[in-house]
Amino acid sequence: MTTVDQSANGSVRHILSLSGGKDSTALAIYMKDRIPELEYVFCDTEQELPETYDYLKKLQAFLGKEITVLKYDGKGFDELLMARRGFLPSPQVRWCTDYLKIKPFEKHVGDDPCHSYIGIRADEPHRKGYISTKPNIRPQYPFIDAGLKKDDIVRILEESGIGLPTYYNWRSRSGCYFCFFQQKIEWVGLLENHPDLFAQAAGYERTDSETGERYTWSQRESLAELSDTNRVAEIKIEHARRQSFQRRPSDRTLVEVFAADTSSDEGCLICHL
Ligand code: SF4
Repeated sequence: MTTVDQSANGSVRHILSLSGGKDSTALAIYMKDRIPELEYVFCDTEQELPETYDYLKKLQAFLGKEITVLKYDGKGFDELLMARRGFLPSPQVRWCTDYLKIKPFEKHVGDDPCHSYIGIRADEPHRKGYISTKPNIRPQYPFIDAGLKKDDIVRILEESGIGLPTYYNWRSRSGCYFCFFQQKIEWVGLLENHPDLFAQAAGYERTDSETGERYTWSQRESLAELSDTNRVAEIKIEHARRQSFQRRPSDRTLVEVFAADTSSDEGCLICHL
């Protein structure tokens, strides 16, 4: 097996996997002139938010270089779900990450020696991101190496003109619109910003006719239950109550709240970084 240090012809590929989130986007901007041969890839689940696709188009124009879209054997989420007889992924059984994010990336790299660039910041060194078990893929952490923290990342995005993803107005992370790592308030955000996508997400939920077991995206309730007017009001009140506890002396806007660290509830870094 070839390793990063044992390249047959001496060449090493440099690849940055974008998620559509702020940190990997800022890293792409930061690395643009530092490593001109850097390859940019995006593992597309076909279930991302429209804002994410728009954000990536904006980034591609800035980079002046194509972002290669990767898929598992050309398949998106729906085809893979069918192959699993409708068994929805969950935090415990996260087949989606494996098939839609990790495998397409590893296949794209193959056995080539490769440096994989990861946007974890200096103020979150406890996070690891995606680390391949393949010995030819070596993770690189330029933000940690340069001591760059969250304020630096926001500055990089603002100075480039790209800014933060617009979904930060109501959601904390990139990834599929139905991602099961969403907080209740983010489901409400989906309901209010993309009612069509909320309805599509609800369409995936089902009850096993034999066992009566419910398969829902959000814990302990279906999206039909969550979208009830009284329940939505309850979720908003609870969210506001939590924010008032967390609020710093300087008031934070909603976009700042959602762009803040999510390390206490990390979700899946390969999808959300
Ligand atoms: S964003 Fe969520 S649902 Fe989509 S692949 Fe990642 S973990 Fe799975």
